[in-house]
Amino acid sequence: MKIIITVGHSILKNGASTSADGRPFDGVLEYAYNKEIVEKVAGYLRSAGHETDVLICPEKKFTNSTEEKSYKLSRVNNGGYGMVAELHLNASAGHNARGCEVLYLSEKGRLAAQKIQERLATVFEDRGIQKRPELYMLNKTVPTAVMVESFFCDNAKDCALAGKTNVALLIAEGIHGGKIAEAHGSKEEGKGLYHVQAGGFSVRQNAEKLKEKLLEKGFDALIVTANQGGVVYQVQTGVYNKKENAQVMEQNLRAAGFDALIVQSGTI
Ligand SMILES: [Zn+2]
Repeated sequence: MKIIITVGHSILKNGASTSADGRPFDGVLEYAYNKEIVEKVAGYLRSAGHETDVLICPEKKFTNSTEEKSYKLSRVNNGGYGMVAELHLNASAGHNARGCEVLYLSEKGRLAAQKIQERLATVFEDRGIQKRPELYMLNKTVPTAVMVESFFCDNAKDCALAGKTNVALLIAEGIHGGKIAEAHGSKEEGKGLYHVQAGGFSVRQNAEKLKEKLLEKGFDALIVTANQGGVVYQVQTGVYNKKENAQVMEQNLRAAGFDALIVQSGTI
């Protein structure tokens, strides 16, 4: 069965993300987190024998989330896929809710959701699977569809737990319906992601300032929270599978007068 893993949400033309943002609560930006793990999920699935594609919306191209929807649906419904799993993270008004849930609509979706839920619930609080008739990724999609809400992006405890967990492996095992050797995906895909970082700050405001400068010069910029014996706000301009591509971005940044550093996944 051909599988497509999509990253929920996007970065709009004005630089705003359509996703939940847990960063003010010692959490993570939903979109950035899932963008970071999606290739890893796909790598594990490929290592288990599934033909797997990844879909991330182009950044700073869309003016609203409706464009995001049509971009995704046309690809998900016309690629010959048997299954689509969209990666999300949850958020709650009081920032105190915790745990995992997987959303579905069809009967096949329910069975797929159950398997993913079982794997995530080995680590995160089990909120159960949820039937959701109103979501386009479930009611407008041709392949068997699930939306994975791995944990709460605005809950510091959930995010700390996620930081110690191979969430990508749990999701892949849930989709695969069995164990996958951890060495496979992490060796081939996890370590293969190169992040280009323009700066790291202990004060969030400083990270915001650098982000603004980068956006003004036409670079992408995302602030990623990392814990390095204290919270560090890293300003990243891109994530790449190939080191050569990361090096091109590194050179472009330097040429524009910015600092640049390539950091591999698993080391930050
Ligand atoms: Zn979401």
